[in-house]
Amino acid sequence: IMADIQCQGCGAVIQTTNPEKAGYAPASALEREDIICKRCFRLKHYNEVQDVPYQDDDFLEMLNQISETDGLIIQLVDIFDFNGSFISGLKRLTGNNPVVLVGNKMDVLPKSVNPGKVKHWLRRSAKENGLDVEDVFLISAEKNQGIEELSQAIDRYRKGRDVYVVGTTNVGKSTFINTLISNTSGEKDAITTSYFPGTTLGFIDIPLDEKSSLFDTPGVIHRHQMAHYVSDKDLKLITPRKEVKPKVYQLNEGQTLYFGGLARLDFSSGERSSFVCYLSNEMNIHRTKMEKAEELYNNHVGELLSPPDEESLAKLPPLKGHTLKVREDKMDIVFSGLGWVTVPEGDVTVTAYVPEGVKVSLRESLI
Ligand code: GDP
Repeated sequence: IMADIQCQGCGAVIQTTNPEKAGYAPASALEREDIICKRCFRLKHYNEVQDVPYQDDDFLEMLNQISETDGLIIQLVDIFDFNGSFISGLKRLTGNNPVVLVGNKMDVLPKSVNPGKVKHWLRRSAKENGLDVEDVFLISAEKNQGIEELSQAIDRYRKGRDVYVVGTTNVGKSTFINTLISNTSGEKDAITTSYFPGTTLGFIDIPLDEKSSLFDTPGVIHRHQMAHYVSDKDLKLITPRKEVKPKVYQLNEGQTLYFGGLARLDFSSGERSSFVCYLSNEMNIHRTKMEKAEELYNNHVGELLSPPDEESLAKLPPLKGHTLKVREDKMDIVFSGLGWVTVPEGDVTVTAYVPEGVKVSLRESLI
């Protein structure tokens, strides 16, 4: 029996079985003298950050350490999945440290979306979740949009203090950090890992000046993110990669839309109305009658109604319905992790189905 080997970079216990978890190193790395995990290896040799997910409890404990420091918190969320990617309880965890909220992946928003409205909605949603934020920014980490403006704002808000970047997995945190590094790099070897007492996994430490740093923290796994219930292949398909092109359906009462077999929208009552779907352009939308919807699903999920593929089906919880009364005009029914459907005229009742555990919500339309 081997004793636990720790990574020389971050202190995580080395394991060779799960590349998605902390401390992963390929078996060949065990033959070296100073063993480091793959994450630290990439950081050391390529100055490239990889996200490592943490289970909820460890993550909360880790975040709690930030409350004992004096710094600026940058919370990154995915604007296509606010509910799935917002860390509630951040206020309680990080104490009195100011928070700047950053909505990533703005490049996939349709051009018709008003950025001011998105920011306003992000700020309000954070507030509804108990978090007053200093400011809100929209960026595309991948397309390097809005990063310069954000960097300047970070410098203003931090007032010489450290900066902590937090986010759930999949919001684009490593892409963001890597974009920041490549925008500002000069001093290459300056990036290291450092860790807080009581946490095994290091924070990536990017020096901002002589006295302060920007820290990248591990990503938290949120159970209600759709991402955890689908295969990698399906995740690629349901995640918008390009500007989303809305698809419009005119529906009568009693009709149903299936989004693959991952979600379903029943138009239970109301006048004939249009439903404007903002989902990944690759998402398969299927229209049917409510009375036939159940049978169609039972017979064709995974085929006509896909995604889910076979691998996702094996882990997908059953669809659960949420009845929503849409009273006002211009409301969005948000399917966490998939996108949303705008109902231009109110006074309709719908039932939105998603895999149990995934969230559905109503909001004022972003358009
Ligand atoms: P992390 O788990 O938070 O570190 O997330 P990653 O940086 O690995 O990104 C998760 C996924 O989101 C990847 O497929 C990225 O390509 C994608 N992504 C990250 N930033 C953006 C962005 O600004 N726009 C778009 N469209 N996709 C992004």
